[in-house]
Amino acid sequence: MKCSNVGEFSEGELLPFGNIELSPSAGVLNYGQGLYEGLKAYRKEDGSILLFRPKENALRMRLGAERICMPSPTVEQFLKAVKHTVFANKRWVPPPGKGSLYIRPLLMGSGSVLGLAPAPEYTFLIYVSPVGNYFKEGLKSINLVVENEYHRAAPGGTGGVKCIGNYASVLKAQSKARANGYTDVLYLDSIHKRYLEEVSSCNVFVVKDRTISTPEIIGTILPGITRKSIIDVARKQGFQVKECRISVEEVFDADEVFCTGTAVVLSPVGSITYLGKRTSYNNNGIGVVSQQLYSFLTNLQKGVTEDTMGWTVPLN
Ligand code: PMP
Repeated sequence: MKCSNVGEFSEGELLPFGNIELSPSAGVLNYGQGLYEGLKAYRKEDGSILLFRPKENALRMRLGAERICMPSPTVEQFLKAVKHTVFANKRWVPPPGKGSLYIRPLLMGSGSVLGLAPAPEYTFLIYVSPVGNYFKEGLKSINLVVENEYHRAAPGGTGGVKCIGNYASVLKAQSKARANGYTDVLYLDSIHKRYLEEVSSCNVFVVKDRTISTPEIIGTILPGITRKSIIDVARKQGFQVKECRISVEEVFDADEVFCTGTAVVLSPVGSITYLGKRTSYNNNGIGVVSQQLYSFLTNLQKGVTEDTMGWTVPLN
């Protein structure tokens, strides 16, 4: 099959969770032709269910599919499949305040292909799992270590899309960091080894006075949906937000640093260790700006406050 973003996806079906059958020569198993997405559904006090910005996930999956030569479901197909799956599993959406239903769409080259080429067939599937609140007793800060030896993405590679192979490349640095007592790894750009990129599965922000900066989206950083949302919320709250190059030296001087992603929503960074030197923020506690943005976004996602941004999608 030619590298093409066009392809027909047939109507799917609901199946109980279980193993799937794949040829040993499936494109995804041999050449990593696969993408995933992650989003959440929350239950409101009145029992109804909200999805958070599912269209953004659909669009990101389409961009990723184009990058790795896969056809992808249309935005409408993606949204219909997500809603259908959540509806069928609605009893698993935790009660208000007790977590959310994590939704994992996967797109993969399931057809058999021996020589390196795009697979001749594709499978789109979605599975879900209830997850608790990431922070059980309020926000907690995390400790990052700057990685010098390994990179998660190189210019021209697939770092800008949610390609499964990107996650294999972080496993080694992540285990090294955890073995040394850190929560996660902060990656620098692979050319200058100087500019912040992101954490293994989160974007990063730096706060100084009333300015909030985050690395600009160049091909090596995933355009996070939480990142995009926090940028809009922060601007609405009167902060100046800059998407720019941020050198690792600039973080030493920051008032606060935080990470964003679907799983954590927003996670304050208590310390960053770079070349053996540790810089702490807010005595390893929670900064005022981090707390303010976290509260605003989580209340909106859970339907606790009115969604003035138009981001939540009720499940009908
Ligand atoms: N960067 C990477 C590498 C990620 O895997 C994720 C998680 N999807 C993010 C950033 C945050 O993206 P989002 O806010 O869309 O979850």
